[in-house]
Amino acid sequence: MDIILASHNKNKIKELKDLLSDSCFTGVSVKSLSDIGFFDEIEEKGSSFEENAMIKATALKRDDAIIVSDDSGLCVNALNGAPGVYSARYSGEGATYKSNNELLLKNMEGAADRSATFVTVVACVLPDGSSFTVRGERPGIILDSLRGEGGFGYDPLFYIPEMGKTFAELSPEEKNAVSHRGMAMRAFVKRLKSIFGRDEAEMTKQ
Ligand code: IMP
Repeated sequence: MDIILASHNKNKIKELKDLLSDSCFTGVSVKSLSDIGFFDEIEEKGSSFEENAMIKATALKRDDAIIVSDDSGLCVNALNGAPGVYSARYSGEGATYKSNNELLLKNMEGAADRSATFVTVVACVLPDGSSFTVRGERPGIILDSLRGEGGFGYDPLFYIPEMGKTFAELSPEEKNAVSHRGMAMRAFVKRLKSIFGRDEAEMTKQ
């Protein structure tokens, strides 16, 4: 049995492989969209992370593989949840991480409430057509200037008070341990184990 992750991102593939590398999933191979030769764009027109993750997973449904898809974003309370599902394209056509961070800082000028939450939703569609979603959330604070060199996207502005650091100041392992994506991926693997755990032999022989 294959698990197809709806992404071309090698880091996401490795992360899922590592999480699955225990006895229950020994017969499972994790493939990316590049591995299966899928290079089309799937439009994410949903108004929630759940909808977008499910649109991608459903579009890729297979009779012989488990499809997994994730959708993430940053929800800022003072901005009524923006940028939310528009996180990647917050500053419009041709948006970059830099232009998105600049717009976020501008829109947060003078805001007393700087609390925000990073969200990841993982959607899964099984060969029999059944599906589920799981969600990971990481609360934090939006700083008023960039801090740290690591990570990507809004990481240099996202500060975790308990750690005294921004996401951009954490190593990839440290970030994965506390991030929305790490949390959602671990919840997904737990759910998959609860579905297939009893059928371990079934799972490994396919
Ligand atoms: P995606 O759904 O994983 O492609 O994430 C959509 C957008 O949300 C990205 O382009 C980033 O702008 C933002 N984002 C998601 N996760 C993170 C993160 O861990 N750090 C910083 N930005 C993120």
